[in-house]
Amino acid sequence: MSKKKKQQRVVINRSVDDLQQRYRPGQQLKEHNYILQISSDDLAFLDDYRVALAAGAARFAEIYYNYLFDNPDIAGLLYTHERNGGDIGDLVRSELKFMLGIFRADKAAREAELVEVADKHIAKGAKPVWAVGAYRLFLDFLRELIVEMDISPLERSRLESVILKLVLRDLGMMSDGYWRTRLDEHREEFMHVSAQYDRIEELLTGIPHLLWSVDVKRNQINYANYPLHALYSSNLESPFPFLADTHTEDQQQLLTAWQEAVNGCGSSTEVRMSLANGAEHWYRLSLYPSLSRSGRSGQVYCLLEDINTVISERKQLEQLSTTDSLTRLPNRALWADHMNMALAASRRVPGSQVVVISLDINQFKMYNDTLGRKLGDALLREVAKRLNSVVRESDSLARLGGDQFGILLQPVSDARTAAERVITQVLDSFDVPFSCAGKQLCVSVTLGVSCFPDHGTHEEALLTSAETAMYRAKRNGLPYQFFDPGSDVSPVEQIRYSGQIQSALDNDEFELYYQPQVDLRTASITGAEALLRWQHPLEGTVLPQRIIPVAEQLGMISPITDWVLLTALRQCKAWTYHGSSVPVSVNVSARSFQSPRLVDKIQWALEEAGVSGEKLEIEITEATLMMDLERATEVLARLSDFGVTVAIDDFGTGYSSLSYLKRLPIHTLKIDQSFIMDVAFDKQDIAIVRSIIDLGHNLDYKVVAEGVETGMALDMLNSLGCDAAQGFHISHPLPEDQFSGWLSTSAWSG
Ligand code: C2E
Ligand code: MG
Ligand code: MG
Repeated sequence: MSKKKKQQRVVINRSVDDLQQRYRPGQQLKEHNYILQISSDDLAFLDDYRVALAAGAARFAEIYYNYLFDNPDIAGLLYTHERNGGDIGDLVRSELKFMLGIFRADKAAREAELVEVADKHIAKGAKPVWAVGAYRLFLDFLRELIVEMDISPLERSRLESVILKLVLRDLGMMSDGYWRTRLDEHREEFMHVSAQYDRIEELLTGIPHLLWSVDVKRNQINYANYPLHALYSSNLESPFPFLADTHTEDQQQLLTAWQEAVNGCGSSTEVRMSLANGAEHWYRLSLYPSLSRSGRSGQVYCLLEDINTVISERKQLEQLSTTDSLTRLPNRALWADHMNMALAASRRVPGSQVVVISLDINQFKMYNDTLGRKLGDALLREVAKRLNSVVRESDSLARLGGDQFGILLQPVSDARTAAERVITQVLDSFDVPFSCAGKQLCVSVTLGVSCFPDHGTHEEALLTSAETAMYRAKRNGLPYQFFDPGSDVSPVEQIRYSGQIQSALDNDEFELYYQPQVDLRTASITGAEALLRWQHPLEGTVLPQRIIPVAEQLGMISPITDWVLLTALRQCKAWTYHGSSVPVSVNVSARSFQSPRLVDKIQWALEEAGVSGEKLEIEITEATLMMDLERATEVLARLSDFGVTVAIDDFGTGYSSLSYLKRLPIHTLKIDQSFIMDVAFDKQDIAIVRSIIDLGHNLDYKVVAEGVETGMALDMLNSLGCDAAQGFHISHPLPEDQFSGWLSTSAWSG
């Protein structure tokens, strides 16, 4: 209970007690005697007349009865008494007896009678004025009685005076009785209201919120519950006693909410406040206006609740919905938000770029399958930790699902350099094995990079580009790749071509171009590489880099490989009819190489075309080989059984370990064209090409240089001892009819 209310209660109780004290029996009589100057002489004087007066007064009964029954209100009350089972006669007799008792000598008994009658009258609903009326008649009657008495005028006058004093005393004491009874009733009522008040006050105090109401006109608090008093007793003048403790950024919110409430709209707002210990705490302020007739609020009821736990639970929930539960990293949704923010920031700074990296753990499925999911989860957590340690705080790392992570770099001016810096750190960090549940695991990752705005203008496109680059890196056995619009197939393109590949096969839209490969020592043709082209009815010639990845992803590569093999081998056969014995090379993609029926199909195609195995070379990349080295060993062994040779295509760009070379029946290394382009003048390229040639020769392989575009390059390769060459300088890839022409006319074919 508030201090103020406590005080109020004490005051009210005290005044009731005071009144009770004043109307104590005896005390009242004394006071009346004193005020009305009823002396003991008066009473002694009356003693001589008591009997005569009492006897004479008995005749007053008739006047009294008439008085009672002539007054409809009094009569009505008497009849109600009767209806309620009472006896009117008894009641009237007892009333009369009481009146006549005015001359009784026993003062205390008379006083008790008076109190009792007052109580009775109040209880029955009698009005005090009725008693006054009865006493007036009684007084008249007594005066006449005295006139009849044989006494001296002096004695009569004195008797009259004493009787008047006694009548006044009766009336006075009766009215006091009325008052006291009423007071008792009020006291009861008050006690009841007060108890109710206490309960409400207790309730409001027990509620751990601040509650108060504000008189809008006076802009003053007119009620504050105890917690508010306890905290801000000295500052209850303004509507918001805690305004100074409110976070400066949130104060305006409070004032806006207040203005709304004053205008008659309930409002609620969440604000931060500084606690005494300096900590920040969240509260919700709710304002409920009570409207006046004008529609504006007369009062505003205010509630301030502590919602710190609610806020922290809300934050936790938010975190749960935006965090990956396994690694505690942001999830895809939050990462997307981060990316959108970075893109917005980059748009504001012309020339800046955003780097998006998709990272995948190599062979994670194998870890999961062989070590169990629990260890797989532990590994993911360790990977997350390690990535976290190399990614800057300003950049954003997320788990995008499964074994895929995302790294987002804040806008930079040189995306490639920034991406390579992070990638190097990531790759270096994976050099150290992971220890999971007592096991040491060597884990590697593949990354794909895309940059805003070159590789996509929105979040989804950028992630897809990064993923596409990552899958290409995986296919090529590289640790990372940047998105390359020239070689990476966009999802839009995938969808565009998906329905068309089968119809291209059905409608003979595929075609093979042939590019000769020449022996540098003999200056003669040693083979031709079959290169796929799609003569698209609408788009013209589509290059294999756009066909093969889509076909691989759509599971359509097998029929293409079958078609290429048979077509190339049939062509090889056709050349023999024209007197040229040119072996043919066919590229086999990673997915095709993994097909368990590859060897059977090659065998079937050789038979179908009527060509012996020695006339066919298949070209595969290092990455394709490394995907499943054991299977590769077996496949290559079977192929060499019927004379088919194997070339490692794009050699030098893929796998770093060369140990596989000694294990596999390989015949040719095709040096990647990126080393050949500048081999005529670039010392590093010369060194690399020389090393590859040495390596190939030491292992008894034929070494072929791809992408020979100039005579100078050809001369250099010659001087480095390269066995064969292929490139635009010798011939572009040519359609079959032109290639036949080339065969018959070219100096190389002589
Ligand atoms: P690849 O096997 O390394 O083929 C050589 C690529 O280099 C060909 O590109 C060829 O046109 C190009 N090229 C040849 N000489 C030069 C030169 O002097 N300078 C330059 N800049 N480029 C030269 P193409 O035909 O676009 O084929 C690209 C790749 O597509 C091939 O690379 C091969 O990996 C793949 N591919 C081609 N045909 C097939 C196929 O039938 N099946 C499969 N699975 N892949 C194929
Ligand atoms: Mg090739
Ligand atoms: Mg190549």
